[in-house]
Amino acid sequence: MLNQIDYLRVSVTNKCNLKCIYCHPLSDNALREYQDIMELNEILYIIRLFVKCGIKRVRLTGGEPLLRGDILQLVSQLSSTEGIEDISITTNGVHLESFAEGLKAAGLNRINISVDSLNRDIYKTITGFDLLGNVTKGIQKAIEVGLNPVKINSVIVKGVNSSREEIIPLARMSIDLPVMVRFVEYYQTSKDSKLNKGFVPNIEIRKIIEHEFGSIDDASEIKGYGPAKYFKIKNSAGAIGFINGRSSMFCDKCNRIRLSYDGKIKPCLYSAKQYDLKELLSNSTNEEEILQFLGKIIQEKNQYTKINKPLKEFSMQSIGG
Ligand code: SAM
Repeated sequence: MLNQIDYLRVSVTNKCNLKCIYCHPLSDNALREYQDIMELNEILYIIRLFVKCGIKRVRLTGGEPLLRGDILQLVSQLSSTEGIEDISITTNGVHLESFAEGLKAAGLNRINISVDSLNRDIYKTITGFDLLGNVTKGIQKAIEVGLNPVKINSVIVKGVNSSREEIIPLARMSIDLPVMVRFVEYYQTSKDSKLNKGFVPNIEIRKIIEHEFGSIDDASEIKGYGPAKYFKIKNSAGAIGFINGRSSMFCDKCNRIRLSYDGKIKPCLYSAKQYDLKELLSNSTNEEEILQFLGKIIQEKNQYTKINKPLKEFSMQSIGG
């Protein structure tokens, strides 16, 4: 049976204020190519076309989406778009403390915050910046203003943040706070990456957690819109999630399509196949023709991983993860 494709991830910029080791290991050049970032009206127009093709949920990502000066306007315009049932953001949380209230008021439903370590030094090693304090304040604020759920994404890289000392505080956060702490398997995005051997299967993370807190209970009643599998440590306010993108590819459940900051549609994160929508829009103003083009991509999406050579090298930062 074909998956229902109803989820669009939009990278609204490729600019970022962090330099996470696993995210843009290619070079700094990707960071300097700012000129093709879509304007607010272009993003809105394209998303609204996708809504006509069945998209109901939109996630804004990047780069860092909170670096866009018009991010509140974008969320607000999306929330008043008929057909969109859910709007979320994936952010590194550095500017979240000051944005959380505005985002909630603009109509944001949910938020994912990336935090790979709660140790200040290791956070700095991973991201290049001593900003963990900003992020933890951002998480508190997101909970306080009522964004729900608040999810924490932690990419675990062997030898960097894979030790017990890193995993346990992250897992403990799900006991103390009403948040879902999700362990994301590192996906290698570059052949030359120094992190070649960085992959840690989530089964190892689970062992560390269970060794400390006892067996974790299946919480499959928690249904996200993505591939995470949820569990609960006993008496916890939140939950633990595992996203096993490497150890078990979940193409059969993939319901998402991606739009890059420069108007390229990617039906599959791992496939080289992409379509230049911006170019099509500059050549055609016939909405029917554009809708047909989008409809065809959505219809064929389920085949992309299977029929294409996997992409060996890409920048997560430009696609949005
Ligand atoms: N700046 C925002 C942030 O930090 O969350 C949004 C963009 S970031 C590219 C989106 C997500 O992709 C983050 O949760 C990040 O951890 C994840 N990500 C980036 N590179 C990854 C990799 N090589 N393997 C697995 N996840 C990755």
